[in-house]
Amino acid sequence: MLDEPGTGRPADYATGGLVHLNGNSLGPPRRTLAAELTRVVDEQWAHRQVRAWFQDGWLDLPRVVGDKLARLLGAAPGQVVIAGETTSTVLFNAMVAACRLRADRPVLLVEAESFPTDLYIAASVARLLDRELVVETRDGFDHHLAHRGEDVAVAVASPVDFRTGERRDIGETTALCHSVGAVSVWDLSHAAGVLPTDLDANGVDLAVGCGYKYLGGGPGAPAFLYVAERLQSTVDFPLTGWHGHADPFAMSGEFTAADGIDRARTGTPPLLSLVALDHALDPLLEAGIDALRARARELGELFVELVERDVPGAVLASPRDPDRRGGHVALRIAGADKVERALAERGVLVDARPPDLLRVAFAPLCTTRDDVRRAVAVLHDVIGGDADPASDAGRGVR
Ligand SMILES: *Cc1c(COP(=O)(O)O)cnc(C)c1O
Repeated sequence: MLDEPGTGRPADYATGGLVHLNGNSLGPPRRTLAAELTRVVDEQWAHRQVRAWFQDGWLDLPRVVGDKLARLLGAAPGQVVIAGETTSTVLFNAMVAACRLRADRPVLLVEAESFPTDLYIAASVARLLDRELVVETRDGFDHHLAHRGEDVAVAVASPVDFRTGERRDIGETTALCHSVGAVSVWDLSHAAGVLPTDLDANGVDLAVGCGYKYLGGGPGAPAFLYVAERLQSTVDFPLTGWHGHADPFAMSGEFTAADGIDRARTGTPPLLSLVALDHALDPLLEAGIDALRARARELGELFVELVERDVPGAVLASPRDPDRRGGHVALRIAGADKVERALAERGVLVDARPPDLLRVAFAPLCTTRDDVRRAVAVLHDVIGGDADPASDAGRGVR
């Protein structure tokens, strides 16, 4: 197991003595990160200055790190690039490009449970390209594809519901899209680094995700993009920056898309953030995605069992079957935001999502079983007892 005594893995992360179970962004950094950044600044930047872009491989880093990440995502090399933007911009790029692959179809289909930015971007893309936006809840999404799918250009979905953690099967949904001729776009933000996504085996078309959740890339880590090799020569991105040009340094006045995944690049990448993401990926790759998944599943199960035993007032908002959940568990608790703050005051970081969800995420390499026990004990103190009259957060669950 990854955190049996002696392996020392969680000790490799600088936790500040806190329990990190927040699923929205930042986990703790590796203790070696600062030294790695210093190395790049001192040995590369300071030493070679601008020449480091070529001499230290900086220009290739978005693809090199992309190939590393590809191993976690179940993709062969040459299909993932660290796009250097936010998930939102990368999603925009992917959605427009996907719609352009189906110019003759009117509908852009999105899951209603999507993360807000996905809904906002889809609405904007539909407006921009004069398509019809169809927003359907989970079952309606499948139903729409199955019964009216021949109108669908692009279907956008996530393998993990960001609120409840409920999974959507990537292979089944992608196959359903393909059976009606629609293009699939996946947002892997809550899956990358904690769930096998098997992008190649599942026949996924395009996928995006952020670098700062389970991948641990740090504050504002750049997002990634996957484009299946079979689509790379035809896919036409709206963001046509010079780094996506076939010959960026020719400084041509006309855009000619690069071959392969490089055409998805836009401009100068955020080098230091890329280095931090690269550094975060190493222990994840060493563990392998199956072990990461098994570990997150085990920690999630421990949490649910302890909550059922010690915090009977909390209602599980996630599926009880661990195979139907991603890397996090959500509890339904009135005043979840107050509970979040009360837990934080006691050193346990989780996150609340309106109106009443408390999300608890289990980053496999930096979370211990003791962290889980401590979190449940503190949760019990905060909402399970009457000890803290200042917190009225628990009322709804008693
Ligand atoms: C966290 C998250 C994002 C974040 O988007 P940014 O533009 O990187 O802030 C997007 N989509 C999903 C599903 C997320 O969970």
